[in-house]
Amino acid sequence: MSDPSELYQAVILDHNKQPRNFRAIEPHTHDADGHNPLCGDQLHLELRLDPAGCIEDIGFTGEGCAISTASASIMTEMLKGQSLETARALFERFHHLLTHPDAELDPELGKLAVLAGVRDYPMRVKCATLAWHTLQAALDEQGSVSTE
Ligand code: ZN
Repeated sequence: MSDPSELYQAVILDHNKQPRNFRAIEPHTHDADGHNPLCGDQLHLELRLDPAGCIEDIGFTGEGCAISTASASIMTEMLKGQSLETARALFERFHHLLTHPDAELDPELGKLAVLAGVRDYPMRVKCATLAWHTLQAALDEQGSVSTE
């Protein structure tokens, strides 16, 4: 059990089996659809910003593979109550981690570190970042985003 990848795998499976914040947010201020045609992942993200611009509530629905579901679950868990600046900074760190094979695990990533293993599988990177691209589309009021 000292192998961190086993622990990471367990966290991913847990979030896939029991996704956190798997629900619609009513009322919401922003929403978007995300689609990853390579894998077939489809998710709908809804969130509500408070007057100060913090994420008061955030949830997702839809269907996807274990990686995309776990990533959306972990993302919503981490972002609830955070400012948009924090959310954007976290996405940058996460994206950097997944697109740079030599990137060090940044402690600020928290639970997102469990997804680090996908960077060895470029197709999986799209699964892991789908929720984040969908968040960006929601905040930019784009309506929908596709990884292709
Ligand atoms: Zn996928």
